[in-house]
Amino acid sequence: MGQFDVAVVGAGPAGIGVAAMLKDLGIKRMVVLEREKVGATFDKWPKEMQLLTPSFTTNFYGHLDLNAVISRTSPAYMLQKEHPTGNEYARYLRDVSEYFDLPVVEHTNVEKVLYSEGSFKVHITEGKPIESRFLIWAGGEFQYPNTDSIPGAELCLHNSRVKSWEHVKGDEIYIIGGYESGIDAAIHLSRLGKKVRVLDRDGRWSKKTTDPSENLSPFTLERLKQEMIYNRIELVGKSMVREIRLEQDKYLIYVRGKSLPYQSATPPILATGFKSSLVVIKELFDWKKNKAYCLLSEQDESTKTPGLFLVGPQVCHDDLIFCFIYKYRQRFGVVANAIGKRLGMDTTLLEPYRNEGLYLDDLSCCGEECVC
Ligand SMILES: Cc1cc2nc3c(=O)[nH]c(=O)nc-3n(C[C@H](O)[C@H](O)[C@H](O)COP(=O)(O)OP(=O)(O)OC[C@H]3O[C@@H](n4cnc5c(N)ncnc54)[C@H](O)[C@@H]3O)c2cc1C
Repeated sequence: MGQFDVAVVGAGPAGIGVAAMLKDLGIKRMVVLEREKVGATFDKWPKEMQLLTPSFTTNFYGHLDLNAVISRTSPAYMLQKEHPTGNEYARYLRDVSEYFDLPVVEHTNVEKVLYSEGSFKVHITEGKPIESRFLIWAGGEFQYPNTDSIPGAELCLHNSRVKSWEHVKGDEIYIIGGYESGIDAAIHLSRLGKKVRVLDRDGRWSKKTTDPSENLSPFTLERLKQEMIYNRIELVGKSMVREIRLEQDKYLIYVRGKSLPYQSATPPILATGFKSSLVVIKELFDWKKNKAYCLLSEQDESTKTPGLFLVGPQVCHDDLIFCFIYKYRQRFGVVANAIGKRLGMDTTLLEPYRNEGLYLDDLSCCGEECVC
């Protein structure tokens, strides 16, 4: 494939969105490397799972659809759905990629990235390495599940490995983790008539803040409320699971401060989150003390490796976590501007993106509390 100005790794919403903007800016020598196909992560979602953030054709009045990744597009308009499923949203991403004629190379897995003297050497599983002056990492999180957070976690079924909740056997199911994925699983399993017990170390379902990264979405709370009336879901807060064991065909779930373990006939569902694709290139970043997020400059560039940018849900500045599409898409303009300037391009073309929520470089406006 040769040499490029920009290589983007990952063709999910983050990679497709930023590539569409760079193309609009006029960057020609660009490639998007995707290990499967465009929108692959969304095709892997359990078939019942839907986007939590609502889509609406607000574009007509100057507000970009919350789940759109680039201007003049709207999943609500295209799919005629407020909460698309994973398969539906993947279709939207593929349409965007085709419409903008993005240079996506599918079935190309990035194994390793080396940096030397202002250039990246991107090693792929099959074929010669690719060279690029700038690298944008958009590999996401979902395909890198956290399956070793608790001793015995390997005995569980991680929620990202479930194709449909209909495939889960048993009538009484334990779920470890009570945030969006865990509660979504509980709702779908209860709808199938199963009894579900959700164990969570805090009890995220009762948290109420105005930051949607901190508490359950209204879509989830509403569905949970509707399902709770059937008394099939039990939410157990302050339950820090410390170990899972398999003894005589029973899964024993040990919780801190509780002498006897919970017993389950089927593998517990593990909904404790993801590790992030950054494991592939972790040495190219400096890390925050807690190791959960990497350190980024004001341009979302690695503080350790110049020319390496991050887009997507792992972007974090102070206490602002850009974990939803409508949040992290606001940083596409920042990254495009930084790269365009260094390539000597006229980046004033990016200015209109500010009005569409695709170019936010002043984060002081974030964190506003709701008054009611
Ligand atoms: C249960 C759940 C529900 C969610 N609901 C919402 C929601 O309603 N609204 C919302 O805004 N966000 C939601 N999110 C957040 C969601 O993760 C992100 O919005 C979105 O998927 C992240 O996009 P991305 O492009 O960064 O990652 P992905 O969609 O995962 O895309 C990454 C792409 O990179 C590819 N890739 C990965 N590693 C490599 C590699 N080494 N080489 C080549 N290619 C690679 C993958 O195949 C994939 O196509 C949800 C997340 C979860 C887990």
